[in-house]
Amino acid sequence: MEINPRYLSLAQIPTGAKCVVVKVHGHGNFRNRIIEMGFVRGVRVEVIKNAPLQDPIEYSLMGIHLTLRRSEAGLVEVVQETADFQDPQVETFAEEEIRSEADRRSKNIDIALVGNPNCGKTSLFNRATGLQERVGNYSGVTVEAKTGIFHHRGYTIHLIDLPGTYSLTEYTPEERYVREYIVNEHPDLVLNVVDALGLERNLYLTTQLLDMNIRVVMALNMYDELEKSEASLDYDSLGKLMGIPIVPTVASRGVGIDALLDRIIEVYEDRSETVRHIHINYGQEVEEAISEIKKRVYQYPEVTDAYTPRYVALKLLEGDSLMQEHFQSEPGRDALMALCAEKRERVEREYREEVRTCIANSKYGFIRGALQETFVPSPKEQRKSTTSIDRFLTHRWFGIPILIFFLWLMFQTTFTLGSYPMEWIDAGVGHLSEWLLKVMAPGPLTDLLVNGIVAGVGGVLVFLPNILILFFFISLMEDTGYMARAAFIMDRLMHKIGLHGKSFIPLLMGFGCNVPAVMATRTLENRRDRLMTMLIVPFMSCSARLPVYLLLVAAFFPHHQGLVLISIYAAGIFFAILTGVLLNKTIFRKVSDPFVMELPPYRMPTLRNALLHMWNKAVQYLKKMGTVILAASVLIWALGYFPLDRKPGQEEASYIVQIGQAIEPVIEPLGFDWQMGVSLVSGIAAKEVVVSTMEVLYAEQELAQQPAFTPWVAYGFMLFILLYFPCMAVVAAIKKEAGWKWALWSIFYTTALAWVVAYLVRLLSYCFG
Ligand code: GDP
Ligand code: MG
Repeated sequence: MEINPRYLSLAQIPTGAKCVVVKVHGHGNFRNRIIEMGFVRGVRVEVIKNAPLQDPIEYSLMGIHLTLRRSEAGLVEVVQETADFQDPQVETFAEEEIRSEADRRSKNIDIALVGNPNCGKTSLFNRATGLQERVGNYSGVTVEAKTGIFHHRGYTIHLIDLPGTYSLTEYTPEERYVREYIVNEHPDLVLNVVDALGLERNLYLTTQLLDMNIRVVMALNMYDELEKSEASLDYDSLGKLMGIPIVPTVASRGVGIDALLDRIIEVYEDRSETVRHIHINYGQEVEEAISEIKKRVYQYPEVTDAYTPRYVALKLLEGDSLMQEHFQSEPGRDALMALCAEKRERVEREYREEVRTCIANSKYGFIRGALQETFVPSPKEQRKSTTSIDRFLTHRWFGIPILIFFLWLMFQTTFTLGSYPMEWIDAGVGHLSEWLLKVMAPGPLTDLLVNGIVAGVGGVLVFLPNILILFFFISLMEDTGYMARAAFIMDRLMHKIGLHGKSFIPLLMGFGCNVPAVMATRTLENRRDRLMTMLIVPFMSCSARLPVYLLLVAAFFPHHQGLVLISIYAAGIFFAILTGVLLNKTIFRKVSDPFVMELPPYRMPTLRNALLHMWNKAVQYLKKMGTVILAASVLIWALGYFPLDRKPGQEEASYIVQIGQAIEPVIEPLGFDWQMGVSLVSGIAAKEVVVSTMEVLYAEQELAQQPAFTPWVAYGFMLFILLYFPCMAVVAAIKKEAGWKWALWSIFYTTALAWVVAYLVRLLSYCFG
């Protein structure tokens, strides 16, 4: 990397000389790292060994010896102390002067003006500097960078008017110029001038600045025109979402310039509360590719000194030639490029689009999402853009009913269509058992096969059609882009329980099966949201719990089946919300920063993609359920089958019955008998197992004739089933995603809650029953 000529850098100080740090240049991660090492303003550094062409360089600061790469030292600006052997080219200072000189220099701020053509950069430049640069109403007037110097609140500001560009890729000379200027000259911050009348297009450039992780302040220019058009923009919120302070300006009349400069100084001094580095989410495939490439990029520290690893990875994935040039003579270059090409092809196969297009689409999705939340177009514009589906689908009032309609349609279709293959599988499993019983000699092995493995795995297989159909719909919603809208609509509501709209997707999937739902929390940005979502997913009543309800509802509420069923699902949602609120007030008190809910472009879904995604999710489900359920079925079977020395008619002596009797005192206050206890224990493996266990234990009699059972007890039992112990597969999934601690937390919390709720139902039954 080239050494910057615009300031004296630590890399230029010869062995034995002393200097004082003025500031650290470069991108955010780099600055933080170097500052943490102790290279802060005013610190005196002595050069222990700086041999030309030799890396690293050795320094002593505050009595500690440390080394910096040449590329790192080149980004630390210093002033040099007078020494006997000084270089006549370098300005040096006496010991008593040097600190005040460093202080003075640290009050120099270099600012680069970046923006689309005609957004008002030159007007702003002229207003701020007092110069009269020629202002034109057409692009291409600013051919090269013009610098102006002026003062503001004791700071000396160097402003550079760069050529206007729409993007920071590599296609036009202007783009290359601006991009190289930012990277090689590292201004202290970029002033992004944005035309308020063309937000979507102007913000595209801003998203590219976000990728670079540099300090940015935005001038929301042409603000007079925006107000005249009767549109409105909540620029404070937009700034918070993007992590960039935004100041409205009218550059042509000099309005807002002082406020803008104040804000710039705040950011320069790292005092701004708005500033934060955000990542734009480029979608699962691209993000996976980025993180794979990023791992390799870390092996090239000289490159990551100049750019953040994420940016390098993003650009390499795009096949950006400017970025590739940095690797020209690096070892392992070919392997890295091959990896990038492979990832690029993979993404392009998946999305059937060029990677660059994909990334651009995600950027526009980010912008659209940010604007949907903060921008209200002028009434005239609104009328023109009634064609925009988003105005309708994410409408403040229509949005939720439309969403509810789609969800209703989805669940309705899932369960109606699913019931046919469900019956076939059920019948098939029945035939298989019968056939096995016929061809095999009776004995423990046959019993294990029929009552353990076939019954257990069959019980899971039965739900496969429902889950496949549900996943098909979810894939369809994801592929069309509607899922992002659903998340957007739910965002406001989800905030009330301290979550983001994006958590809605895993929660929705939870109605199919909690296992893939827990896995889907991976797409959430931060750990807090992931954990919270994971912990409330089990309250979404999965399809495995449905047969238990169906059995009990048919037996005890024959006249209000639908109503009772809905009340159970609603109770699940209620306890999810309650838990969310509780977690939010206790363990997860710190609310994470707001982030943009991307609105990616709508696409025509392809059947191939939807089927492919459906299949991927189904495989996840089958793997988890298959292994865990198989093991659990065998275990439950064994507990019911052994010990073998039981005499006929003494069924109670099996281990599972002993367990049921052991826990009877605990569930007795709930009005449950030991058979229900056994069913609950077996339901830990998978909740549908409760049905088969009850069928075995109550084989002789109708449920409704059981002495323990009343409608109240049945209702309490259903709530218990809904709430208690997420099945083993879900616990395994939580353990994998969040560790044992949270898996255990989930087990205890849900079971305790189930007990309390069932007990309350019991109390109510005394009052009303
Ligand atoms: P540049 O291409 O980004 O350097 O933009 P210029 O500074 O050359 O401005 C383009 C045109 O927009 C000129 O006619 C300016 O007078 C006008 N202009 C600049 N800022 C504003 C503003 O805030 N409001 C209005 N109404 N016009 C502006
Ligand atoms: Mg200009």
